[in-house]
Amino acid sequence: MKLFGSSGIRGITNKEVTTDLALKVGLALGKTKRSAVVGRDPRIAGEMIEHAIISGLLSAGCDVVRIGMVSTPTLAYATKDYDCGVMITASHNPAEYVGIKLWNPDGMAFDSSQQEEIEDCIEKEDFEPVSWDKIGNVSEDANAIRQHTNMILQNVKRSSKRVIIDCGCGAGSTITPYVLRKMGCEVITLNSQPDGYFPARNPEPNDANLTLLKTAVKEFGADIGIAQDGDADRMMAIDEKGEFITGDEMLALFARHECNEGAKIVVPVDTSMMVDDALPGSTVIRTRVGDVYVAEEIKRCNADIGGEPSGSWIFPKISYCPDGIFASAKIMELIESRTLSELKEELPHYPTYRGTVKCDNERKAHVMEVVHSKLEKCGNISDIDGIRVEMDNGWVLVRPSGTEPKIRITVEAREGADRLFSMAENIIKEALN
Ligand code: MG
Repeated sequence: MKLFGSSGIRGITNKEVTTDLALKVGLALGKTKRSAVVGRDPRIAGEMIEHAIISGLLSAGCDVVRIGMVSTPTLAYATKDYDCGVMITASHNPAEYVGIKLWNPDGMAFDSSQQEEIEDCIEKEDFEPVSWDKIGNVSEDANAIRQHTNMILQNVKRSSKRVIIDCGCGAGSTITPYVLRKMGCEVITLNSQPDGYFPARNPEPNDANLTLLKTAVKEFGADIGIAQDGDADRMMAIDEKGEFITGDEMLALFARHECNEGAKIVVPVDTSMMVDDALPGSTVIRTRVGDVYVAEEIKRCNADIGGEPSGSWIFPKISYCPDGIFASAKIMELIESRTLSELKEELPHYPTYRGTVKCDNERKAHVMEVVHSKLEKCGNISDIDGIRVEMDNGWVLVRPSGTEPKIRITVEAREGADRLFSMAENIIKEALN
């Protein structure tokens, strides 16, 4: 039974994610954990799911500490004092979704083997409710946000810039504006009152969803606009001209700012070589797409920084959990002496092509075999996630979509990107004939 995706359990409230399921997750988790810290984002279903999972944990004899409505990185940071952490969130998904994500004390999300253990236990209904005198205690701790805030403030420099923060009515509203003010910033808030209906915008902080923030940055003459997703593990930025900074640019900027020459940087396979070229002498390690895989690889190879262009930035010196609040504070350091648009201009930009070819799910495996045999003649090939071939001038990535009958092609090259794209497209089309 597959309950967990790469981002934990997530689905439509009361259809895919129910109180019954949450109760079982609590019972399964409580089998091996003696203490758990539980938090939630502002989603309407948050408290309902929280009560169910806590009942399961208590019934299994696990002590529970509730920290209320918090961001995911706040919960992950608080987990250092417990056996595990439970976050009720559906991250950047729309309001009707809810989810459960489990955390280890070092800020790392549960890995696939830990998730399988829980799935197994739920499938076999292998629960052990304890006797009446062994059930867990539940208590509340109101200090989690303050402790997370203090940790961030100890690790960033002061700033007096003018910033507009758009928390998207998500969990970041409980912490980010306060952190930025304590740093000395002039803070203007936008959509920074928690509201589980997410009335202002879709919680995903992508270019298309941030129209209001772009306008506000220009209208108020701000130095920067910052946007977060529903649980504030992701953040993206708008420069002082109202232009969106892409995920690749964000990664390159953070790597330049945070790391020295020779640094190890971990990114997913679809990341631009802008990141490779941003920092001379650095080693860029590529993983499967998903912030969990990036975090695992950062830990495994003791990397200096990593992230995913969708907005997850991981600073391993503070946590393996992507932290959209810490990243918001850090980006203020970046723009202390240069504007964000200047910093962006200085990055190497290469022509990039993205496209898809229709392909029935049943034929994907065959097509990918053909793609592998043709592309391996072109350069250094890797099959970590789809097929990626690296050439002197650039790279080609061919990945079957996990959810749609499509194969995606991404190409980036110093020159001839259009030719490489046609080549990949033709290989797929011929394989389909
Ligand atoms: Mg998120």
